[in-house]
Amino acid sequence: MTLFDELLEANASYAQTFPGTELTAMPSRHIVILTCMDARIDNFDAFGLAVGDAHILRNAGGRVTDDVIRSLLLSSDVLGTRYVAIIHHTQCGLWGTTNEAIQQRVRDDRDVDASAIDFRPFQDADESVRDDLARLAASPLLRKDITTAGFVYDVANGRMRPVASAEGNVSPSIARAIEEFRANAGQLGGEYEDVPVLLLHATDADSNTERVTPLTCQPRGDSWAVFASKAGASSDPYWYLNLVAKPQVTIEFGAETIEVTARVVEGAERDEIWEAQKQASPQFARYEASTDRVIPVVVLERR
Ligand code: ZN
Repeated sequence: MTLFDELLEANASYAQTFPGTELTAMPSRHIVILTCMDARIDNFDAFGLAVGDAHILRNAGGRVTDDVIRSLLLSSDVLGTRYVAIIHHTQCGLWGTTNEAIQQRVRDDRDVDASAIDFRPFQDADESVRDDLARLAASPLLRKDITTAGFVYDVANGRMRPVASAEGNVSPSIARAIEEFRANAGQLGGEYEDVPVLLLHATDADSNTERVTPLTCQPRGDSWAVFASKAGASSDPYWYLNLVAKPQVTIEFGAETIEVTARVVEGAERDEIWEAQKQASPQFARYEASTDRVIPVVVLERR
């Protein structure tokens, strides 16, 4: 029996108990998963998906190619999807190799010239995800109301983690807020319309790369107070830890970019600023009530 006979046989018993389907061709969760053809990845159980939920596009590496763009156009414009998750993975066959090496192998094995093919190898899975997210964002063909996100899946332990943007943000909504801030001289819309916001550029202590974080602030003449509330969570936000480690940072406020030095304030100075902040934005009182931490207050002084 050949492998194909085995497939036919398996399908015959599947069809015998096939209950029929009421699913339509529109993915019920409006999402596209783009991932590698790697045989170790279960695209259903690993991501909590069932048949009918999602479009699943697979190719070598899970890379954004012209054919992926073709499929995404049909998926979103004809079949209503609005989310795209790009998932690359550890131990990928395209990791750590080069086009030259792959082309050479094909030439050596079979004397075939594959030099016209870009196999899209990569040296860093986070980088390749960011590269492909950028390709989606740059495509003039794709709808602009599609939300994208990138992940790396670890085939050794089954865990998927989000990939941070080049500016250090894992959240597409933060990336959009930064874009909006810069397009409107520091003004955000919606619930932040009347809230002063700055962009903090701080060096991430773990990765030694710069991260940009939008923060609600309290402008105080030539300084700005920011609040490590993390919406009342029990731990300090990463940006606060980064500021304490390296207090010389840059902020964007309005249309201006300003060099500042961070100073954690305490005692009466902190209390005065904190009380004013609760007056201006009542949600800070809720954050205070929901955590045992004394929410750190940091003043960023122009230098
Ligand atoms: Zn792979």
